[in-house]
Amino acid sequence: MPFCPQCRYEYKVGVKTCPECKVDLEENLPELDDPTHQNEYVELYMVSNRMEAEVVLSLLREHGIEPLVRDLRSFPVLPDFGRRARLRIAVLVDKEAEARKLLTEAQEDGALTEQGTFL
Ligand SMILES: [Zn+2]
Repeated sequence: MPFCPQCRYEYKVGVKTCPECKVDLEENLPELDDPTHQNEYVELYMVSNRMEAEVVLSLLREHGIEPLVRDLRSFPVLPDFGRRARLRIAVLVDKEAEARKLLTEAQEDGALTEQGTFL
């Protein structure tokens, strides 16, 4: 799957450019070429829009967790046409428990604006 090197979103095969960052996608993130890291990401949480994803990403990054986002829509999409995106946020397997706890707490605190879905 192609990745945006800038925002770490993963897109469907065939997408060439990140629609947000306008940069060319790469076949893999460098760290994913390392076999010890491959397939160690687990999908944790799903949100419906990119703004909410950014809230979740910055929360996780504050705690030293570097997530990926899988955006498996077809492009181009018109973001404001009522089609709800499904963005899946993935973290390394050994960070899953911590990330789940952080997000649960953030939901309880009202720090997240949307009720995302745990996967
Ligand atoms: Zn991007």
